[in-house]
Amino acid sequence: MFLSDRVIRLAPSFALDLHYRYKEMLRRGKDVVSFGVGEPDFETPDHIKKAGIEAIEQGYTKYSVTPGYPELREAICVLLKRRYGLEYEPTNVIVSVGGKHSLVNTMIAVLNPGDEVLIPIPAWFSYHEPAKLMDGVPVFIPTRKEEEFQLKAEAVAKKITPKTKLLILNTPNNPTGSMMEEEELAKIASLAVRHNFYIISDEIYSEIVFDNRKHVSIAALDPRVKNLTIVINGFSKAYAMTGWRVGYAAGPKEIISALTVIQGHFTSGTNSMAQRAALAAVYGPQDFIKEMVQEYDRRRRYIVERVNSILGISCFPPHGTFYAFPDISTFFGKILRGRKIQNSLDFGNYLLESEGVAVVPGSAFEGEGHLRLSFACSMEVIKSGCDRIERAVTF
Ligand code: PLP
Repeated sequence: MFLSDRVIRLAPSFALDLHYRYKEMLRRGKDVVSFGVGEPDFETPDHIKKAGIEAIEQGYTKYSVTPGYPELREAICVLLKRRYGLEYEPTNVIVSVGGKHSLVNTMIAVLNPGDEVLIPIPAWFSYHEPAKLMDGVPVFIPTRKEEEFQLKAEAVAKKITPKTKLLILNTPNNPTGSMMEEEELAKIASLAVRHNFYIISDEIYSEIVFDNRKHVSIAALDPRVKNLTIVINGFSKAYAMTGWRVGYAAGPKEIISALTVIQGHFTSGTNSMAQRAALAAVYGPQDFIKEMVQEYDRRRRYIVERVNSILGISCFPPHGTFYAFPDISTFFGKILRGRKIQNSLDFGNYLLESEGVAVVPGSAFEGEGHLRLSFACSMEVIKSGCDRIERAVTF
């Protein structure tokens, strides 16, 4: 009862609820598998681990400067140029405690009460809640399943008002696995320039792409849009470094300076040894990423084929990330083993309780009618999970 109004308004991440229930069932020795988590099941490569250990031994145990070690910010500039043709100076970059940290700090930096934040949906759940926390007003932009959830500039244009302050782009997308086309990004870039709003471009999955596709950053398309864009990325997904907590933002100097002030008050610099490990990640061998993506691709093909073979479920192949987003809406209104299924949460609960398979319901992402299946888990788990889903809906 003593909590602040803004915290009371904040919805918990109920998407993870099923995952926690799965963990509890696992702990109690139940036979369960999970498609729930959004983190690579690969280990951080050895040379990166070693760099972390050496950093501790060499005394990187003190505070780093708030925006991160200059050599790491320089390395991030090299990486962004090499991979996506983005040109930044180290002063355009801040290293943060994961990409999520920079994302939320950017909202603190740019949002005034009542500012509208455009969020294409389905979307990751950590966009609209932080926006609300900053007294921003989330405005959802629906995308269509028939278009593989591709965001269209036309749909963005319809939602722009004089209060629009920020658009959040996420390509490759969590939870749908869709990727934005350069042509559409260019049109959105023109809208941002014309109507003068910021873009947070969350590119955390930029390295996990399939079918020879190439990730395109909106900031690389035009210097004017680059000046309005804050690129969010990090080491969690590409280098299997989720627990190290190293991410970053790259953008206009004024914004990065504001993020540095904010970060100075909240966390100071990111964990020093983890920054040294991230440095080794940038300059070390990169083959690991290719091998990891090949393995994700193998799993992706399998999972898409398997779920599409189940009567009533349809799924387009994701183009990036490690998520499939099948449509399960044909089961709504039906009774499965005596239980009425009204929505994706009911369906998720039913799968966990009847067959011991954890998923994330689409409603957690404003994507009702779907499930998010993460294939960042072993082929064995994927096979067993698909068998279980098949059994659960076959009657
Ligand atoms: N953006 C999206 C869409 C994500 O799914 C995640 C993690 O799951 C992040 C950002 C943040 O990742 P991190 O804070 O580990 O860098």
